Amino acid sequence: MSVKIALAGNPNSGKTTMFNELTGSSQYVGNWPGVTVEKKEGRLKTDKNVIIQDLPGIYSLSPYSPEEVVTRSYLVSEKPDAIINIVDATNIERNLYLTTQLIEIGIPVVIALNMIDIVRKRGDTIDLECLGRALNCKVVETSALKSEGLFEAADYAVKIAQEGAGAKNPPIFRGNVEHAIAHIEESLEGLVNENYLRWYAVKVFERDKEVRKELNLSEAELKHIEGHIRDCEKELDDDAESIITSERYDYIEKAVSSCVKRKNPKGAKISDEIDRIVTNRFLALPIFALIMFLVYFLSITTIGSWASDWVNETLFAKLISGNLSVWFESISVVPWLSGLVIDGIIAGVGAVLGFLPQMVILFLMLSLLEDVGYMARIAFIMDRIFRKFGLSGKSFIPMLIGSGCSVPGIMASRTIENERDRKMTVMTTSFIPCGAKMPLVGLIAGALFGGSGWVATSAYFIGIAAVVLSGIILKKTKPFAGDEAPFVMELPPYHAPSGRNVSRATWDRASSFVKKAGTLILLSSVILWFLQAFGVAGGTLGMISDNNSSLLAYIGKFLAPVFAPLGFGHWQAAVATISGLLAKENIVATFGILYANNGTATAAGAYMPDFSANFTALSAYSFMIFNLLCAPCFAAMGAIRREMNDSRWTLGAIFYMCVFAYVICLVVYQFGIIISGGTFSVWTAIAFAVFAGLVYFVVRKNPYMKSVKAGD
Ligand code: GDP
Ligand code: MG
Repeated sequence: MSVKIALAGNPNSGKTTMFNELTGSSQYVGNWPGVTVEKKEGRLKTDKNVIIQDLPGIYSLSPYSPEEVVTRSYLVSEKPDAIINIVDATNIERNLYLTTQLIEIGIPVVIALNMIDIVRKRGDTIDLECLGRALNCKVVETSALKSEGLFEAADYAVKIAQEGAGAKNPPIFRGNVEHAIAHIEESLEGLVNENYLRWYAVKVFERDKEVRKELNLSEAELKHIEGHIRDCEKELDDDAESIITSERYDYIEKAVSSCVKRKNPKGAKISDEIDRIVTNRFLALPIFALIMFLVYFLSITTIGSWASDWVNETLFAKLISGNLSVWFESISVVPWLSGLVIDGIIAGVGAVLGFLPQMVILFLMLSLLEDVGYMARIAFIMDRIFRKFGLSGKSFIPMLIGSGCSVPGIMASRTIENERDRKMTVMTTSFIPCGAKMPLVGLIAGALFGGSGWVATSAYFIGIAAVVLSGIILKKTKPFAGDEAPFVMELPPYHAPSGRNVSRATWDRASSFVKKAGTLILLSSVILWFLQAFGVAGGTLGMISDNNSSLLAYIGKFLAPVFAPLGFGHWQAAVATISGLLAKENIVATFGILYANNGTATAAGAYMPDFSANFTALSAYSFMIFNLLCAPCFAAMGAIRREMNDSRWTLGAIFYMCVFAYVICLVVYQFGIIISGGTFSVWTAIAFAVFAGLVYFVVRKNPYMKSVKAGD
């Protein structure tokens, strides 16, 4: 018979790290809350009969956010055989709050006091016996990072799971509260399993709607129960829910003060010192900008571009295409086949893979920043800024995740309690340039801006600005108006990066980039090559020498006028934009194919000169912004659809992104023309009008704001 063990704990306490160690799998580990949004299952390495489940991180068992609902309904209705409660020992008070609730569910609990390595380094000590007595369960010291104590905790969990007895409730509540709860327990007897009696009783006391609905109590019973709750509220002069919360904290505080010995109770820790600087009101943003600039500078301009140049010029151009075309000629392969392979597949896939070294460096550095704990600070800093506009900083976490790939980013929006904010986040997450958009950014920076690191940095900050701007605009519309959700997030202490986490995260992202190049991009390249190699010439469909009259050009020319006011009204750009909907890497692949220098394999970065001849710096920049902000790839649209769970909302979101991108690029391009001394046109006038409209939407008073807070 199999045993089911759930890993439950606060966000960022180390659940996923522990899950990976226990099961030998490789789930994504992130140093900020809300990375695990679905429960994941695996089998214990040492005993395949034991199923381990990684649950989303939660602060409490009250259903405030979707992930709390997932976890709570799983724990209460599906009933794992035991719970390993992972407690971040560096933040023990906050973490034990959930513990006091978990114990009440009646499922056997073992506490894994995680991050014990940090506690030791600080010189603090925690008395396990003492804590175990206070909470009536076994406490095991663990370090998920250093693989310490994990299997001991798991073995113990299996043992108590087989014994089956739930934890005995510790005396958390004082006399009068306990009295009321006991009365409620009496009324519930027989209605629920004896083991869960306490949990249900406390929830009924808190007037938890879900639980009350589930229990379906009679009028008379409810009245009787209400009487007890009211008495208690009167006596303690507080509402029921707050009473329970403060009783829990009081109890925890007592337990912690007698079981935990701190070396420097108030002494400034290094983490705090660093935070004083990097989260400083004035310095925070400049520091963030500088760090992101360095990241992009290193990946796009220096190390990454040396490697990318080699891949482009030597590997793909000379070694692969060069030798292949000689060989094809020697065995006289039919021209269409050699064209397909060299100018289609190699040109397309090669153009994308050429950016792999830059991507690896970029991913490596982003993973480093994340693992060290810096990215969590960014969420915190952005919260301060977002809040000024009535947005929640919680929206920023999905966006940070989205800098790898928008799909998990969009999924991470589930951590946002507030329905309106969640929808808004789903709509705006893909504004942040994901990895797949980086080849485009790298191409524009390399071909038209001499490889400047600023182009990529600006792409990142344009993404953030687009989110903020959209937030301001959308918050003033009916579906999104409302107060911002509170954002509680503790900053994890900084720690030295773990080579394993960083290399795993980098490898995951890089390998999926390569996999996509070998599948989706390859297939797209084949299709694109055929469409651009064939056309109607002299009344018959056949292979043509100039792709300007190809089928693809025909389609592109039909769409191109739409983009003309944005500066890129040629068919190649239109086709690239459309192919980018399949996968954003396709944009670069498309140019690689369309501008392939038929077989002149010695030319360096073959397609780049022809590409840059078709753009000016301004129009290329506008093209880049458009493709960063417009509808994301189909995979991300699918994620939007799943999270919105509604086709109208999904279409609305995609429509919004496209219009937003169009408006921004129109303004950027037309203003750019005027600033650089160009002539005034109808489009300039339209751009001014659109800009005025944009400003109006940003500054107008919120018609849906009920209460105006003073001095905020
Ligand atoms: P989850 O949100 O609970 O799934 O937490 P994760 O497993 O994603 O871990 C969050 C962060 O804490 C990661 O950066 C981990 O490397 C780090 N971490 C996890 N366990 C430990 C530990 O025992 N010691 C230290 N020093 N860091 C840890
Ligand atoms: Mg996790």
